[in-house]
Amino acid sequence: MAALTLRRAGIEVEVFEQAAGLREIGAGIQISPNASRILQRLGLAKSMREYGVRPLAVQIRRWDDGRILTRQLLGDECERTFGAPYFHFHRAELLDLLAAAVPARVIHLDHRCVGLQQYPDRVEIRFHNGATAAADLLVGADGIHSTVRELIVGAESPRFSGHVAYRGLVPAEHLAHLGLEVNASSWWGPGHHFVHYFVGAGARYVNWVAVVPGEWRIESWTARGEVADALREFDGWHPQVGAIIGAADATNRWALYDRDPLVRWTVGRVTLLGDAAHAMLPYMAQGAVQAIEDAAVLAKCLERSDRRDLAPALRHYEETRKPRATRCQEGSRRNGTMYHLADGEHQQLRDVSLGSATTAPLPQNVWLYGHDVEAEFMVK
Ligand SMILES: Cc1cc2nc3c(=O)[nH]c(=O)nc-3n(C[C@H](O)[C@H](O)[C@H](O)COP(=O)(O)OP(=O)(O)OC[C@H]3O[C@@H](n4cnc5c(N)ncnc54)[C@H](O)[C@@H]3O)c2cc1C
Repeated sequence: MAALTLRRAGIEVEVFEQAAGLREIGAGIQISPNASRILQRLGLAKSMREYGVRPLAVQIRRWDDGRILTRQLLGDECERTFGAPYFHFHRAELLDLLAAAVPARVIHLDHRCVGLQQYPDRVEIRFHNGATAAADLLVGADGIHSTVRELIVGAESPRFSGHVAYRGLVPAEHLAHLGLEVNASSWWGPGHHFVHYFVGAGARYVNWVAVVPGEWRIESWTARGEVADALREFDGWHPQVGAIIGAADATNRWALYDRDPLVRWTVGRVTLLGDAAHAMLPYMAQGAVQAIEDAAVLAKCLERSDRRDLAPALRHYEETRKPRATRCQEGSRRNGTMYHLADGEHQQLRDVSLGSATTAPLPQNVWLYGHDVEAEFMVK
């Protein structure tokens, strides 16, 4: 993503990726309007509409009787209010559409960054295969376990949330009998929550994520779980939850970690972006979205900067991005508590505060979805 925004700003970019191929796993991802407007400006509006699913609404349901606690319109209403669509994507399709917008020659696979050395005029990067590269700037966009982060700010373990996510992908026709609306549904209950939405061009699949308490600590998109174990966790929940989980042939398990906000993202000619800078729990569906915002702002800050002295541009980037990304990190943690309240007084207060069905699109999210991170650069 950063390669796209930086190239648009006229900056020469080389991408070094440790994996031998650009692959994503079979899972969904939500892209809210604060990121889709950035992708639209990059010329991706047509392909996003082709591959993305536009949910009609988002709704929160009670775990046992399925009562809708709140429901708010997305679809056209979201576009009218926030000026850009809310999308659900199959991750592989989103990656394909982003990768297609970057020339293959700038992507160097099988290059795991293992070291760096800073000089006044450049940074040199070392890879596991013995290759080296030099650049004016290194952007560490290497995820929650970022090597670049460790190299510039030191080692520090991510924080285990005590939650484990099971994930499944079910062909939509296998769930046709449930008559699911094309929306984002979240079911909240004691210690657990369950989310499902449609993904894949033409809404071909129902993607689900089941968050449960657990001590299993492996973070991997490919670690298998047992559908039966996921089902057992939702014993006593509304039958629709079990019907969706049980329709999956397989499930993956992912231990959920985040990090505390970093004091600084930049040291010299090295800065961080995405999870490397601000890993967060997925309870606001903002991890990748915030990475897209980072990429847009970084490119704008660098666009007119002097390559001999990048410090002012990098300071501007960090000062613009850190408060907002931190708010998402902290909000995601709080949501982890709020979604999982046991039945009782706090849960009742929470449910009352959710309001009820409304046609206003997520008023509490105006600061998030309504914000245009590129706006400040357009008026200059
Ligand atoms: C269950 C779940 C659901 C989620 N749902 C959403 C959602 O709906 N919406 C949303 O916005 N976010 C969501 N997220 C968060 C989102 O997936 C992450 O925030 C996002 O993938 C972070 O992107 P990134 O590019 O910073 O890091 P990553 O996606 O982790 O990418 C890092 C890349 O760097 C490479 N790499 C790592 N180390 C090195 C190295 N040393 N050298 C070279 N390459 C390296 C990796 O191979 C990888 O390709 C969810 C997360 C989870 C766990």
